[in-house]
Amino acid sequence: MTFTQAFKTGLRPDPELNFVEWADKEFYLSREYSAEYGQFRISRTPFIREPLLELSPSSPTQKVILMKPTQQAGTTIAQIFVFGVAAMFPGPLMMVMPTTTKMQGFSKKRIATGLRDIPCMEGLVKDASLKTSSNTILEKTFPGGSWVFAGSNSPITYRSDSIKYIILDDFDGFVSDVAGEGDPGDLSDRRTGTFGKKSKTFINSTPTIKGFSNIEREYNLSSMGKFCVPCPRCGELQYLIFQNLKFDKLNLSWVYYECQFCQNKIDEVSKHTMLPAGEYIHEHPERKIRGFQYNAMVCPMGWKNTWLYIAEEFLKCKIQGVVNIEKLKTWTNTLMADPFEQHGDRPAHEMLQQRAAMQDVIVPQQALFLTASVDVQHLFLAVLIQAWGRGDQCWTISYQKIDGDTSRGAAWKKLDKLTINRQFEHESGAKLNILSMGVDSGDGARTQVVYNYCRLRQPVVFALKGMSNPGKPILGAPAPQTVTYGGKKIPNGVMLWPVGSDTATATIYTRLQQEEPGPGYYHFPVGLDKEFYLQLTAEKFINSRDKKGFPVRELVRVHPRAEVLDCFKYSYAAALRIVDSINLDKLERDLEQQIRSKTERKEEKPKKQAFIPKPKGDWFR
Ligand SMILES: [Zn+2]
Repeated sequence: MTFTQAFKTGLRPDPELNFVEWADKEFYLSREYSAEYGQFRISRTPFIREPLLELSPSSPTQKVILMKPTQQAGTTIAQIFVFGVAAMFPGPLMMVMPTTTKMQGFSKKRIATGLRDIPCMEGLVKDASLKTSSNTILEKTFPGGSWVFAGSNSPITYRSDSIKYIILDDFDGFVSDVAGEGDPGDLSDRRTGTFGKKSKTFINSTPTIKGFSNIEREYNLSSMGKFCVPCPRCGELQYLIFQNLKFDKLNLSWVYYECQFCQNKIDEVSKHTMLPAGEYIHEHPERKIRGFQYNAMVCPMGWKNTWLYIAEEFLKCKIQGVVNIEKLKTWTNTLMADPFEQHGDRPAHEMLQQRAAMQDVIVPQQALFLTASVDVQHLFLAVLIQAWGRGDQCWTISYQKIDGDTSRGAAWKKLDKLTINRQFEHESGAKLNILSMGVDSGDGARTQVVYNYCRLRQPVVFALKGMSNPGKPILGAPAPQTVTYGGKKIPNGVMLWPVGSDTATATIYTRLQQEEPGPGYYHFPVGLDKEFYLQLTAEKFINSRDKKGFPVRELVRVHPRAEVLDCFKYSYAAALRIVDSINLDKLERDLEQQIRSKTERKEEKPKKQAFIPKPKGDWFR
């Protein structure tokens, strides 16, 4: 009799049973997402055994934290937890991913296939496609419990009904403070209330930037376990680190791991015996929150992340002898599962000014679309126009100030002329419009003016607000705002987009320190003055401690004015806002098309890009 059948026939499952034993008997991986589909074997990925044991009701642990590389069984833990709960320990479960779209994708790819392929699930959770079923892609019920799948950007996530099991997946991508509903970091504390000590929370993510990473913060509060494996010769348990991986740096003809205790040369095939003998060593075994970290060095044999692959990817982070910071960050996060530490508190403004090389304001060939951003001061508007290519490579086209009282219309009309009512010449000869323009509404005395300006120029122009609390995504989820115009209130008149200030600065600074053009690189035109570069580097990272006494990185202002840096943040947010919805291949084709039609029929005006805004007449009274 399976566990599930036992449950269905009214027999209570043995509380001593755990998710590891259950998964080894009952859990199946599907061919849609796993090269090793079929019956699950914990022995293939021994580093997920202890996290699964801690998530089992037989353990008193309530909170499990996992800091992991990408695509290495982390999601499997969440899946086993979801299905195991329905099969053995039913109760309300909620799983949250960064966005509702991602969650829908997960439900279709990982949950629907599981319901089809895991034999003991048969008949337990009704198929969402059946007419008799009240189940949907995002909400499913089963005897004694339910699954709710939600995005961190959805208000559903913040409802008040109590949840016994919570999974926060891909935690570094979470959107904070959705419509003022609160911080997702406090979700488990807020929603597991009535289940008390029987509740379980599982938080996992690949880390991002050191000092700003959500999962790093949670991991540092935990027991801080690392998956260690024994040396085949001396038997000493150790966490495999890249520094001890030795390889042929010229043509990768050999690779081995050097034991940190006996300097034995360990061959990768030894993983066959080392991994099953591995175990977690916890730096703080006394802590109740259990934390786990493993990296791609212990990737199972036969999977993509071999030692040679890790070394090869590391070498790719250097191009012509210069380190590409963006690539090194990705390598560190996704393979080493470590937060990326930025070096230097801020980029050197002299270095940036010296490298300015763009001779004119024509949009370069590699750039595909334009953004603008506006920092709103009482007596002037600071306006930045940037061009973007693949991989966020960015060219600053112009930075200008429009003088004038910004509570009145004249400055704003000049802004139209300078930005959305203008066409820009592309190196190919085509004409480009600005596709996304973010306007800062953070100054309370100008908020309604900005809202109204943006309302009449949607969807190209949007209102944004810099958020000072740490660790927020660069572009959060938008929330509707009421616009007060001419004494009338217009509910939902405009959408307001939050911008995570310190996260944006960290990313921009990392990229500014990149020395070789390519993805993530910032290009500057010649002729911008020293003040421009001083403002661009107007903030500095310092090491400090948070409320709980843990070390964090903090941003402080070191130059009196920072409109340029603010404009850079808003412009990046403006690019992020559209980059998923535009097709770069199509933009490239459109540009070619424009040039062709221009040369074929010279008398006709070139075709305009999509999203042409039409500001209405005299919007400002
Ligand atoms: Zn050894």
